[in-house]
Amino acid sequence: MKQHNFGAGPCILPQQVLDATAKAIINFNGLSVLEISHRSKDWESVMDECRTLWKELLNIPDGYHVLFLAGGASTMFLNIPYNLLEKKAAYLDTGVWASKAAKEAVIFGETVIVASSKDKNYSYIPKGWTVPTDADYFHITTNNTIYGTEIRQDFDCPVNLVADMSSDIMTRKIDISKYALIYGGAQKNVGPAGVTFVIVREDILGKVSRTLPSMIDYRIHIKNESMYNTPPVISIFVMKEMLKWIKESGGIEKMEELAKKRAEILYGEIERNPLFVGTANKEDRSYMNICFVMKEEFKDKEAAFMEFAKSRGMVGIKGHRSVGGFRASCYNALPIESVHELVKCMQEFEKINNKK
Ligand SMILES: *Cc1c(COP(=O)(O)O)cnc(C)c1O
Repeated sequence: MKQHNFGAGPCILPQQVLDATAKAIINFNGLSVLEISHRSKDWESVMDECRTLWKELLNIPDGYHVLFLAGGASTMFLNIPYNLLEKKAAYLDTGVWASKAAKEAVIFGETVIVASSKDKNYSYIPKGWTVPTDADYFHITTNNTIYGTEIRQDFDCPVNLVADMSSDIMTRKIDISKYALIYGGAQKNVGPAGVTFVIVREDILGKVSRTLPSMIDYRIHIKNESMYNTPPVISIFVMKEMLKWIKESGGIEKMEELAKKRAEILYGEIERNPLFVGTANKEDRSYMNICFVMKEEFKDKEAAFMEFAKSRGMVGIKGHRSVGGFRASCYNALPIESVHELVKCMQEFEKINNKK
């Protein structure tokens, strides 16, 4: 049976990417891509192509560098204040990832939570906050993977804007110039686990008075073109193939169009179907992680729906434990067909269970 992968991360990857990777693992100009020296010309061309695709797809202006590091977004939670926090940092608390990021900043200096939506289990994006103008930077999480909320608009910020875009990078056009630093784990929309992307404007670095260990210092990674130490080669290779696939599919504009379409279909069904209800505030709903539960009167049917969906090939739709219910993650490589199949499941389940 065909499997429809709605997993929240690691994410579904296109068949073309898997095939190219399998091939390169067996034979990449004579050796396995896993065996070649990262200092070889062959590898350097993979790195160059990957960097070029990032710059091209996101239209990254001069003055910014793209880094491929290890450690995941979670390591950047600490690297960012290490590199940028001199006196004060400001954070928008929109979920567990955002608050984990802020927790690391506290180690390095005064950390202000500008606003939080914790009061309603992070089901909305706080509005009407102001960023302290004496902060070294303001940190946001553009897509809240667990709760299915998203900030889909770039905005002007009076201080350096830092964004965790782990789960929505390359799914919409972004105005990079509004941001000082963008980072994330690749494993939601642009590749496998193991590589962390960082897009950083060079002029924000070197402003803190503390001494930075080499592996923490973004300037060292810029200078060494992400090869200060052995890079996570296979993860970078897969990411490069994924970016190639995005480009061949029509670029970011196409990714955005598909994301919107998938979300409209699924939210449409959640609103229509009398069994289900969405958990996120409508105007803040994510295109990526679509969270829903069963209405109060059908609550006892959640386990049955999970089984029903599983038997029809749906994978990874269990909601995060802090929200419950269901979460359909609709990342770049998820075919529209999978969304139609999930909708069909919901409709069939409704027919069986909504006999009044
Ligand atoms: C998954 C995720 C993370 C954690 O990423 P790691 O690479 O596992 O450290 C951080 N932020 C967001 C928004 C995420 O979705």
